[in-house]
Amino acid sequence: MHREEVVEGSPGGGARFAPGDAALVAPEGLDEMLAALARLGYETSGPTVRGGAVVPGPVASIEDLPAGWHDEQSPGRYRLEHGEDGSLFSWAVGPGSFKPELFPPVHELWQARRDGEGRVEFVAGRGSSRSKKRAFFGARPCELAALSVLDRVLVDCATPDPFYEGVRRGAVLVVAECGAPASTCFCTSMGGGPEAVAGFDLALTELTDGDHRFLVRVGSALGAEVLTLVTTRPVTAADVAAREAVTERARSAMDGRFDAAGLAELLAGNIEHPRWQEVSERCLACGNCTLVCPTCFCSDVRDTTDLSGTVHRTRSWASCFDRDHSYLHGGPVRVSVASRYRQWLTHKLSSWWDQFGTSGCVGCGRCITWCPVGIDMRAEAAAVCSPASPARHDRLAQPEPRRPTGADVPAGAEEKEALP
Ligand code: SF4
Ligand code: SF4
Repeated sequence: MHREEVVEGSPGGGARFAPGDAALVAPEGLDEMLAALARLGYETSGPTVRGGAVVPGPVASIEDLPAGWHDEQSPGRYRLEHGEDGSLFSWAVGPGSFKPELFPPVHELWQARRDGEGRVEFVAGRGSSRSKKRAFFGARPCELAALSVLDRVLVDCATPDPFYEGVRRGAVLVVAECGAPASTCFCTSMGGGPEAVAGFDLALTELTDGDHRFLVRVGSALGAEVLTLVTTRPVTAADVAAREAVTERARSAMDGRFDAAGLAELLAGNIEHPRWQEVSERCLACGNCTLVCPTCFCSDVRDTTDLSGTVHRTRSWASCFDRDHSYLHGGPVRVSVASRYRQWLTHKLSSWWDQFGTSGCVGCGRCITWCPVGIDMRAEAAAVCSPASPARHDRLAQPEPRRPTGADVPAGAEEKEALP
């Protein structure tokens, strides 16, 4: 029997669930779910409409969710429109991801000060004390995939990030599967969606064929505990078919949008391709793409001293589009915009594999929508890796791709003359 075909639920809550089970929940049941999370001590963030976009914010009831909102996205363009349908999750990801909850844009790591006897004492920085019990409600499957990419960078490493790890371990993930991808989405090419496969506590699929309802799948014991506190009813074969129709529609809308096969090797073999220079003529090096990306993790650490003599060590997000981000012993390594764009794209799609054993891109499309000049990374990667590319076969013939070094930067070199 398909595990989701019939699962006992009971009106009024109280049904018992285990990972792998599923149940049907009415929209009001999501209110119960949010209340249950609050009762269990979780601070919940979820999709809200703010500043003309769907972005994560505090969510206490379904009144806070983007009911009836739909988006329209294309390179460099995002618009929200309100409909009368009352669906809660008929939009694709907006500019904000859940990354800032775990990896804050500005985070004071610690303070150091002298006590009355002149000894230096270290105390945790502001921000480190925030509750680690968070619920991420309505996260998309690509968000889940992004967190698993970040886990490899910030947890599965020699020196795990304690704040990220603490929040991650304490978090409840309630995923909303995707039924309305934007034209910029390509998660099917990167393995990020549209279904949630693993790593969630609860996965919702919104069904709007007739009765407005949610098919909820249980992914963990914690998810089962939460669902136990919600009014449910059994799932029927028709509900299962409706869910499959939703994800299949999303999948077929995205299929074929981006061919990622062999991309890592092709990009590594094309580091002198003329397209890097061409894209740099349009790129503003503003770093928007890195700020909206749910997997970018570059940061800068600075120490400042206040008037009382207390030292504050603060970490803040950085961007590889910033000229000084590559500053090494006397100057930046990547002087030209072309070299910075190349660094960003090849790291995401190629050298991330060497470092972390995964792609650095989950196909959420944010960098495309929020690029002010509408640069589409899919088009850039495809142009560099096209079989018709003049540089491709020459460079692939080399035993090792040549990587830029500081020695490549001639003193006083003009930007855009070379790719240092
Ligand atoms: S590189 Fe772009 S599409 Fe890929 S995960 Fe980052 S923002 Fe999303
Ligand atoms: S690709 Fe677009 S968003 Fe990224 S730095 Fe260039 S102009 Fe800014």
